[in-house]
Amino acid sequence: MKRHFNARFSIDTEKKICNLYREGVYNGSVVLAKRFKVNPTTIHNILKAYGIESRNSVESQKGLQIGSKHPRYKGGNISPQGYKRIYIEYKGRRRLINEHMYLMEKKIGRRIKSTEIVHHKNENKIDNRMSNLILMTRAEHCKLHNPALIR
Ligand SMILES: [Zn+2]
Repeated sequence: MKRHFNARFSIDTEKKICNLYREGVYNGSVVLAKRFKVNPTTIHNILKAYGIESRNSVESQKGLQIGSKHPRYKGGNISPQGYKRIYIEYKGRRRLINEHMYLMEKKIGRRIKSTEIVHHKNENKIDNRMSNLILMTRAEHCKLHNPALIR
């Protein structure tokens, strides 16, 4: 597997990029490129090398596209990353949050840590039945989605 597109990136950094992209922590390759101070093409190439399907470039170049502005908008509350969102009341304000994370937090009785991920076992991001959700660390999760990265 071809790995080093940019000598400045370690394998760990590449893994981190793939993880961030998958989870949609950053909207897309353009935002990731800014964060890692490289060309978006570099990010695309890394994702490609790790077998990660990148969201189409037109979409990522447009930047943040939320809700009804999003090309994959299906009429519901679906986040740009494809997760089902719900409104909750928090400190007297209405907030839009990811339902799968909310449900997991209710189950475990605490907030989800920044090092954790709620994974959809059947890979269907809107199937938020509890039996389909599993809490894992980001490290475990990255391995699960990218078995080729285990060394
Ligand atoms: Zn996952």
